[in-house]
Amino acid sequence: MNRLETPDPATVLTRIFGYESFRSFQEEAIRHVIAGGNALILMPTGGGKSLCYQIPALCRPGVGVVVSPLIALMQDQVEALRQRGVRAAAWNSASSDEEIDRIVEALAAEALDLLYVAPERLMMPAFLERVIARAKLALFAIDEAHCVSEWGHDFRPEYLQLAALAERFPAVPRVALTATADLRTRAEIMERLHLDGGRMFVASFDRPNIVYRIEPLRGRETQLLEFLKRHAGASGIVYCRARKSTEEFAELLEAEGYNAFAYHAGMDARSRRKALERFQSEDAVIAVATIAFGMGIDKPDVRFVAHLDMPKNVEAYYQETGRAGRDGQPSEAYLLYGAGDEVTLRRFIEQSEAPEARKAIERAKLEQLLRILRASRCRREALLAYFGEAKPAPCAACDICLDRGAMEDATEPMRKFLSCVFRTGERFGAAHVIDVLLGNTTEKIIQFGHVTVSTYGIGQELSKKQWRAVADHAHATGLVRPHDNGFGGLVLTDAARPVLRGEQRVMMKIPAQRERVKRRAATVPPGGSAALAHGPLFDALRAYRLDLARAAGVAPYTIFHDRTLEEIAALKPATLDMLSHVYGIGVLKLEKYGPAVLEIVKRHRDAASARPSADANLAGASAANLGKPWTAQQDQVLRRRWDEGAGVAALAAELGRGSGGIEARLVRLGLVPDRETARMRP
Ligand code: ADP
Ligand code: ZN
Repeated sequence: MNRLETPDPATVLTRIFGYESFRSFQEEAIRHVIAGGNALILMPTGGGKSLCYQIPALCRPGVGVVVSPLIALMQDQVEALRQRGVRAAAWNSASSDEEIDRIVEALAAEALDLLYVAPERLMMPAFLERVIARAKLALFAIDEAHCVSEWGHDFRPEYLQLAALAERFPAVPRVALTATADLRTRAEIMERLHLDGGRMFVASFDRPNIVYRIEPLRGRETQLLEFLKRHAGASGIVYCRARKSTEEFAELLEAEGYNAFAYHAGMDARSRRKALERFQSEDAVIAVATIAFGMGIDKPDVRFVAHLDMPKNVEAYYQETGRAGRDGQPSEAYLLYGAGDEVTLRRFIEQSEAPEARKAIERAKLEQLLRILRASRCRREALLAYFGEAKPAPCAACDICLDRGAMEDATEPMRKFLSCVFRTGERFGAAHVIDVLLGNTTEKIIQFGHVTVSTYGIGQELSKKQWRAVADHAHATGLVRPHDNGFGGLVLTDAARPVLRGEQRVMMKIPAQRERVKRRAATVPPGGSAALAHGPLFDALRAYRLDLARAAGVAPYTIFHDRTLEEIAALKPATLDMLSHVYGIGVLKLEKYGPAVLEIVKRHRDAASARPSADANLAGASAANLGKPWTAQQDQVLRRRWDEGAGVAALAAELGRGSGGIEARLVRLGLVPDRETARMRP
């Protein structure tokens, strides 16, 4: 790196990358590698692993060779680096002859900082000897290093060959990086990549900006649509198990006006590549995908990951949800968990051709995931404990912690439910058990003579929906489980006994009778991304970014992250110096885009002072209908918007009335029981 007088890591961090300070152990690891040491870097997705080899590569003489398994990922990283003025290139099957010539020349002239290459290519003897061995080497970085471990969840045999690097280039430091590695996988990486004398750097795996929310499955469609309302205008991933589901849900979302597409391994390579590009380059885009949509994704502004089906183990869950919020902004991981799903997963394991030992591992891993889903324990704590990490900073960002205040004693209803499962012979699903509790007379009840069981009709104090919640909770906490025969009947577990005997209390959230009103009020996003209101300046900056991205044929975030735009919008810098302190603005970006950005800010400032504020307009409109009688049409709008989740304040503005008038009308139309409830939705 000859463009800086002193290639000091801290200087590179601010001047090239535009960041103020190192995170976690970054600096220590970087200095260790610059000094020639080997290292294993463990950091959650989005933690900032890349800098741990990128900066050493810039500070050491020669080129840093980065082994990466996926071409799409390589290309994006190279693009982002070039935007910062780093001399980076990728050599892969998609490279043209000219590109390859240029790389070879650059290597000979020591004019390349980073070279990305797939493991199988790197280890081809011809490539290794004619290209790599002739270049001056700064380091080897081995990304997704868990792929070398057979115990890990993504073993790739071609990674095993990387072991030879140690012998062939003993003087070149090697840095292995991964976001998932339990203790056993870590040991395998150290051993198989011969990171002798290397240091292990382990960051906290906590992702504080992700809200974890796990809900019993009631209906995928309604739950998904309700969830998405909290993330209007955001990009995200919706994971489904079946290919067909991805297509169905993508269609549903498109029909609802979302920018969504399906993605699964059954699609041809071209459509898959197009879909990936679309995801990387568009704003407010939703991928409805099987888990085939995965490792190549490096979009920093993914605001949510929703699982409509259960993942198969904790590693998979954490890795999939980890794709949300790489930029550190508030994001949400949402999972629907239903009894049928568990049955399916078990059947998959039993019916697979895998050797018994592998099945045993998978069974054990599934159990560990189920324990986390069922427990009424902080999700973050449970997940981190799984990865061997003690309790992190207090969590206020998972469904359990957020809803803690709303728990009530549900011991009696739970005893009734369990008892009814038992009395009806432990062979029926929740729907039938609930019919018995409610004293309904269905065909099935008559057929099985269940009017005569002692629990018939003893549960009329709760509604069907409320019983549903009790049943879900029983299942989620492992008091009942589906019968092994796979027909969906429920049986009691050992854990049910103390509850039935009245020795153990059950705390849970029972939805209110008028469930819709209450539940909506409770799901106002705690950091849901729709809460990130962006003003007109942000939008103008975003439009500018999109123009630049289109012109350069790159993904918008390689030019500026959302966070950078947000900071600019908030700071409204007037000078290049002020702008240089914004997150992600290094020397090159300042030079390239600085003047245009300042111009946009200035124009915006002028325009804002010239016209009355948008708020003032709204206030003017809001008086329009004050005191006038309600028309049928207004009632209709009110109903619809309330159903859509609009709050009292928004409705007041939209309908030109005061909040009091809106509250009164909501009560009048029977949409809420009283004005108090209406006010709960601000
Ligand atoms: P991963 O660990 O998933 O490879 P990345 O290296 O892609 O994560 O980093 C995630 C994001 O955090 C990137 O946008 C990166 O530029 C940013 N980042 C990394 N280190 C820092 C830092 N010290 N300060 C600010 N942002 C950083
Ligand atoms: Zn929590």
